[in-house]
Amino acid sequence: MTVAVQVTDLHKSFGSTPVLRGVDLTVPKGSVTCVIGPSGSGKSTLLRCLNHLEKPDRGEIEVAGQLVGYRRHRGKLYELKEKVVAGQRASIGMVFQGFHLFAHLTVLQNVVEAPVGVLGVPREEADSRARALIARVGLAGREDAYPRQLSGGQQQRVAIARALAMRPEVMLFDEPTSALDPELVGEVLEVMKDLAAEGMTMVVVTHEIGFARSVADTVVFLDEGRVVESGPPADVLDRPGHARTREFLARVR
Ligand code: ADP
Ligand code: MG
Repeated sequence: MTVAVQVTDLHKSFGSTPVLRGVDLTVPKGSVTCVIGPSGSGKSTLLRCLNHLEKPDRGEIEVAGQLVGYRRHRGKLYELKEKVVAGQRASIGMVFQGFHLFAHLTVLQNVVEAPVGVLGVPREEADSRARALIARVGLAGREDAYPRQLSGGQQQRVAIARALAMRPEVMLFDEPTSALDPELVGEVLEVMKDLAAEGMTMVVVTHEIGFARSVADTVVFLDEGRVVESGPPADVLDRPGHARTREFLARVR
């Protein structure tokens, strides 16, 4: 097994409020991990630590074998410069609840922007790859549309294409369907399902228990900043070992 993401004893507080209290997580390459848990349990903070948008207080994070945010020298950790961290971040795709597309750019420009600007991919190459990705998320023909001309589901699919354009090692999703009208949820989950089937490593924070059951290799239940239990969906979702997991599932189903 190749490990894509390794989180060890991750702690994070905001002021005096502990939000992550010793989280361990191993995500094998090519696997899908769904993180579930009540609002405020630290799910977003965990994802934000993975790409160093939040700085951990304690613990370590490795993505593709590389320490995120730090370098180790003779057993001690030294913080990396923001520019270096930005480079690391480029290999970690992130899709948020809101779509965060550039409103003044077309679909194609949204997808082409970072590969050209950040990775230095020649425009022609980035352009043809972007078109392929736009087709892959089911939006062929909408390359020249602006975000406001698209539905929420279409915008979220563009956001996925845009993240994929950076050829990430891992894709992080933070409640990607929570802001969508119910009838648009399915089309986004379908794209994510295809991505999983193609072997993309994914960490998905979601309340879509059906998606977690059918797509996740591992379901992690986070509560009050701790992993209460984790395992295959058939265990965590259908035979949870902890009362807190049972109570949570009873509420979201
Ligand atoms: P979840 O995504 O599971 O709902 P979050 O990780 O967003 O939980 O938040 C966990 C807790 O941390 C919440 O109580 C939230 O208010 C707090 N929190 C998150 N980000 C910040 C921040 N930047 N400053 C202060 N408190 C924060
Ligand atoms: Mg959240």
